[in-house]
Amino acid sequence: MSIATAVGKSAVAIIRISGSHTEEILMNHCRIQNASLQVPLPERKMRLCSFLDAEKKLLDTGLFVFYKGPSSYTGEDGAELFLHGNILLLRMMMDSIVKSGLAQPAEAGEFTKRAYLSGKLDLTQAEAVNRMICARSERELFASRRNLEGELSRMVAKFRSTLLLLKAQEEARIDFSTEGLDFQEPHEQKEKLDDLIQQLDSILNCARETEKICLGFQIALVGRPNVGKSSFFNQILGWDRSIVSNQSGTTRDYVSEEIQLEGVPVRVIDTAGLRETQDSIEKQGVMFTKKIIRQSHLILNMMDGISDEESNTISFFSSVKPNIPMIHLLNKWDLEQVRSVYPQIKQRFPDIFCVSCLTKEGLDKIRKQIQDTLFSESSAEEGLLLEERNRYHFMEAKKSLQKVSELWKEKAPDEIVAIEIDEALFHIGSVTNPVQTEEILGRVFSVFCVGK
Ligand code: GDP
Repeated sequence: MSIATAVGKSAVAIIRISGSHTEEILMNHCRIQNASLQVPLPERKMRLCSFLDAEKKLLDTGLFVFYKGPSSYTGEDGAELFLHGNILLLRMMMDSIVKSGLAQPAEAGEFTKRAYLSGKLDLTQAEAVNRMICARSERELFASRRNLEGELSRMVAKFRSTLLLLKAQEEARIDFSTEGLDFQEPHEQKEKLDDLIQQLDSILNCARETEKICLGFQIALVGRPNVGKSSFFNQILGWDRSIVSNQSGTTRDYVSEEIQLEGVPVRVIDTAGLRETQDSIEKQGVMFTKKIIRQSHLILNMMDGISDEESNTISFFSSVKPNIPMIHLLNKWDLEQVRSVYPQIKQRFPDIFCVSCLTKEGLDKIRKQIQDTLFSESSAEEGLLLEERNRYHFMEAKKSLQKVSELWKEKAPDEIVAIEIDEALFHIGSVTNPVQTEEILGRVFSVFCVGK
């Protein structure tokens, strides 16, 4: 039993119960119109009730739902109590149930662990539950959702059945090697094996890409003071976060904020302007800028054409972090003065984008260009997520299959090949249903929140 909602003040909070004593707990602690509950309890129906403590004193009025196992989240009998969201009240309710000796506070992830142990979810789905709760971006949320719906489990099932076929062939070869029976042609088997290795490879790559996306990107907005960085920063965020001023060197420290681009978290950092300066605070700002650039995935280099020192600025960035993608922006496009210098600037920066933070011209184009630069083609697809544990098993399975390929090439004995196929089977199987040890389950479920 545990509180399933976030702790704090809320209109409603939920206490979750799972286990064979659920009905008894409800009979002891809930009353409908002042009368005891009647068995059998109505399943999956919300009922208005009074919640009582161990001494039958009224604690609250709310709702409860009873879930009869195995048609419940955990597979066991379960219930949810909806009370007012005051932590004191919730604790009083929980304490009185614990006092009855019919339930105890749940551990982190215990409900999902029970669901896993009763076969309601496999391990990849259980892991996806936690990811869904902790997801920091829409992308991560959707990728977790797909795993929860069994996408990864279906892939694993497909791999397993292909591997079992390969294994059966090897076993048959071993058992009937002297009887001249017709087996699948070696090259057909080889094709299947290569295909499997390739699929494992693409899963691992796709997961790496998705993980990168889920962690998000960092963009450094740089340029000479007064070119309009803060104005651009505010435009990208959609609200005024940075101070805009026509006095050079206004942004002395960096300002950073996270936005979501296509459901991906992107941290945009408005850096201190870059210029030779005697001002010690501004000097520090420039040092920070260098550090930020080293950690960034993209530089937005802004200029306004009025200063002619952009070339120096570019070489400055390149020396801080070579090969970092850079988008050049010519701001203040609304000014005639800027338009007039455009041809010269275009010669130096053929891919430059013209924008005006004042009129908002060109901003949508820039947003699109940022997305195209940060998200590679594969990452634009719906992603696939692998927890560290699964990545390890997929990698080990791939290694074993590569070994099988080598063994076949060397015409090694079938018995040895079969051992490697077994190894691959073990790792693939471990993704969804590992050999159950408390250590593995403890590792998976300890990162969950209590109540899930
Ligand atoms: P930063 O020092 O690079 O952060 O520059 P700011 O964003 O503080 O802008 C410096 C000055 O340029 C301010 O007076 C802004 O109002 C002005 N400014 C910024 N963007 C534009 C623009 O697109 N057009 C015009 N005309 N002025 C702009």
